[in-house]
Amino acid sequence: MDIKENLDIIRKNIEDACAACGKETGGVKLIAVSKTKPVPMLEEAYACGCRDFGENKVQELVDKYEVMPKDIRWHMIGHLQRNKVKYIVDKVFMIHSVDSLRLAQEIEKEAAKKDVNVNILVEVNVAGEESKFGATSEEAATLVEEIAKLPHISVRGLMTIAPYVEDSEENRRYFAKLKQIYVDIIHKNIDNVFMEELSMGMTGDYEVAITEGATYVRVGTGIFGEREYAVI
Ligand SMILES: *Cc1c(COP(=O)(O)O)cnc(C)c1O
Repeated sequence: MDIKENLDIIRKNIEDACAACGKETGGVKLIAVSKTKPVPMLEEAYACGCRDFGENKVQELVDKYEVMPKDIRWHMIGHLQRNKVKYIVDKVFMIHSVDSLRLAQEIEKEAAKKDVNVNILVEVNVAGEESKFGATSEEAATLVEEIAKLPHISVRGLMTIAPYVEDSEENRRYFAKLKQIYVDIIHKNIDNVFMEELSMGMTGDYEVAITEGATYVRVGTGIFGEREYAVI
């Protein structure tokens, strides 16, 4: 497992995917998804230039935040419970997984207390999978509109987690659908909404996601190797 080698390959793939659809490489940002991985591995990725890291658990994000360099942009990409919002509002660069007005209201409350502004993405369950969180495709625009009224939150775009598939082409339609919802929201010209980010694509399908308009790709296994989950 060589993190540097993996990153070289992924960065090259991103470049190629951008070239294939006439996009500038800089328009796609790579988030190193470091959940379950130990700090030395994050430090290795950091040494290779990674500054965007993604975590899906509040405690783990906070622990790593404390010990890693301060110029890292931390992305909360996992389901967020309202009672844990207070631990991360002043530490994260962006929360990708906002899926309800109640959660957004809690973020607003804690952000106001700490006098910070929080960048968020609205998570959309475009594939309609029962096991996944996220607003429905139909709800997404209304949810964005409601959240945009909260003064300490900036809505920056949309996020989706596509189904696990063998053939990444199967997910193309979901990425295209998220892009369509995003464009429809842009056309609504909602105050305090800055639609500029589409967070979609993981190790198995980030190249397809890029050709459908991703601006953030979230890659874990491809950089750090398979995750081992302790059996408790
Ligand atoms: C774990 C995770 C990823 C990364 O998945 P890989 O397949 O390991 O690249 C991306 N996004 C979310 C929301 C995740 O939870």
